[in-house]
Amino acid sequence: MNTNNYILNVEDIHKSFGNNEVLRGVSFNVRKGDTKVFIGPSGTGKSTLLRCINQLTLPDKGRVWLHGEEVTNSGARINHFRQKIGMVFQNFFLFDHLTAVRNVEVALLKVKGMGKEEAREKALYELRQVGMEDWADHYPAELSGGQAQRVSIARALAMDPDVILFDEPTSALDPELTREVLEVMKKLAQQGMTMLVVTHEMGFACSVATEILFMENGLIAEQGSPEMLLSDPQYTRTRNFLGQLA
Ligand code: ADP
Ligand code: MG
Repeated sequence: MNTNNYILNVEDIHKSFGNNEVLRGVSFNVRKGDTKVFIGPSGTGKSTLLRCINQLTLPDKGRVWLHGEEVTNSGARINHFRQKIGMVFQNFFLFDHLTAVRNVEVALLKVKGMGKEEAREKALYELRQVGMEDWADHYPAELSGGQAQRVSIARALAMDPDVILFDEPTSALDPELTREVLEVMKKLAQQGMTMLVVTHEMGFACSVATEILFMENGLIAEQGSPEMLLSDPQYTRTRNFLGQLA
């Protein structure tokens, strides 16, 4: 396969849990700087798809490439790819016993093997990127959900990822906190970060997505630019779904 023009290739991903066929052959390609937004009903396989991309879940069939190197079946190299494919979850997953800066630092020390001073400097730099430098010495319990999520984005950025996967990053947040997280994500997109985002925030999708992919029953049912999906009458399934959200 010619993967030259793409940063990430996802080809024919299948995944079942017992008799539950969750992903039924999902393929798409991602260019550097793309923001792809995945929408679709709950239980349709969006989280499973993101987890298959960085092999937190092993697909039954199908392959993933990053810069033309195979991520699937990569053996011990998977740890390298997991650094390059960052992930941000709905519930942050910060360490409660570590301050914000220590949460960002820990992988730099343990995974990247950086020295203490360099790791601290890098962690503070990434916290500054998400507007959280002033909160560096606070523990997760002292942060709002939006602040905690911004720390978890800083933690992903610290690995210098090629792509960041966001799985409903604002679903646990109030509207006001949602806005501050989406602002950070929008800024990252404008700076050229490549991102795959599962979200139902259609304002974000319309203003930031290079493409929206509508998933249904384990497949990409429709995909296109925000303008096309929202205005072209042929995209009835996407618009019916969006009608239910409103
Ligand atoms: P979405 O993110 O679109 O809501 P998910 O990918 O979370 O969908 O889930 C799709 C289906 O896969 C659901 O039916 C869910 O119960 C099932 N599923 C997800 N993870 C597991 C798992 N680890 N074990 C068993 N079933 C799972
Ligand atoms: Mg999900």
